[in-house]
Amino acid sequence: MTQRIAVLGATGSIGDSTLSILAAHPEHYQVYALSGHGRLDKLFELCQQFRPSRVAVPENKVDDFATRLAAAQVACEVVGGQAGLDDIALDPQVDTVVAAIVGAAGLASTLSAAKAGKRVLLANKEALVMAGSLMMQAVRDNGATLLPLDSEHNAIFQCLPPQIQQNNTAIHDASHGVKKLWLTASGGPFLNKTWEQMQAASVSEAVKHPNWSMGQKISVDSATMMNKGLELIEACHLFDLAESQINVVIHPQSIIHSLVEYCDGSFLAQMGSPDMRTPIAHALAYPNRISAGVESLDLYQLSSLEFIKPDLKKFACLKLAREAMQSGQAASITLNAANEVAVEAFIKQQVSLTDIALINAQVLDKMLGKDKSVAGHADISVRQITELNDILMIDKIAREQAQLEVMACRN
Ligand code: NAD
Ligand code: MG
Repeated sequence: MTQRIAVLGATGSIGDSTLSILAAHPEHYQVYALSGHGRLDKLFELCQQFRPSRVAVPENKVDDFATRLAAAQVACEVVGGQAGLDDIALDPQVDTVVAAIVGAAGLASTLSAAKAGKRVLLANKEALVMAGSLMMQAVRDNGATLLPLDSEHNAIFQCLPPQIQQNNTAIHDASHGVKKLWLTASGGPFLNKTWEQMQAASVSEAVKHPNWSMGQKISVDSATMMNKGLELIEACHLFDLAESQINVVIHPQSIIHSLVEYCDGSFLAQMGSPDMRTPIAHALAYPNRISAGVESLDLYQLSSLEFIKPDLKKFACLKLAREAMQSGQAASITLNAANEVAVEAFIKQQVSLTDIALINAQVLDKMLGKDKSVAGHADISVRQITELNDILMIDKIAREQAQLEVMACRN
């Protein structure tokens, strides 16, 4: 039986890697739906190549895109906006949703896919950062399967016992002996640079990742190590652990993608070339394996594997993420929203790379009531978050606050 796949965020870096694997295994996978937000020319070419039944584009592009497809004799229904993405995520024809939209924009459709009991291949880490409990509950209540594409989480998943992978027993069950998770981080392009060099960094320097080729936002997040902070929160939700049970270690070679430490002293690690096609192929085929088209790791060429403790002064975003995870969900939503605004401002050259951590910290302080000058926000940290609307409300207020902080940095 072929799996019918919807790739949401098909025009991005994860979209590219996913489609290359799907194209290589037509006997296993059918591309049923695609989505794209920008780069619609690329989306058009993908529609010509993969002939999906449905495609989602921004609301105001639906008519143009449909006309273009019809002229090229590509029979494909075009849907628009968040409602269109949701509709695809809920479509009974879809078996598997690849959640590869970047940022908060991917939250609603990812949650819909979980509620519809789909097999969800999750790249969109921001969805778990914002709505971890809601998402995990939706997965449990609706019999969905959540498989991580983020290389670190996929590595941890692979190093856990099958009973835990299949949610048959809790990770906390003492018989499994899971002691800690170790998330590896490359350290990004500024690992061996000073804070002052980071402060003066251009956008092109910040997005030049030493080991991975990725979208712009995650590349900036890697430069500040906010990416590892988001991944720490993602891991807490995915694996049902407290942040104190997850360590972060810098491993500049990006060969070990993460580790699970067991109570008998064993550390199980997953290794491979830094290529997202490996975790994507793993999740697509799980519990089987398929070829990912990835070059074999040449162990003879590996001279050394280094491990370094992160400097939390230089990479303050990582510390903020730990604190946010301790403070509760409102803090994680706030941090994610502030960071999206700050990263965008950095890309537009309105603030410096090191301003991102400052903006994130200021917004957290103001929103969570530590800074009493902002009236009306203090109740957010204690509010019960039970629905998507609560999350979107906090996200919106945090974005507004972050915009003010961006303006303050510019003055
Ligand atoms: P990207 O910027 O290359 O692609 C993002 C995709 O999201 C594009 O298809 C874009 O059209 C779509 N999109 C953007 N804004 C949208 C909006 N408002 N509404 C609907 N669609 C929108 O990003 P990427 O690097 O592929 O990352 C995608 C996700 O995967 C992110 O959450 C990222 O953190 C995660 N991730 C990426 C990598 C990687 O190697 N690239 C690794 C691990 C996790
Ligand atoms: Mg990652």
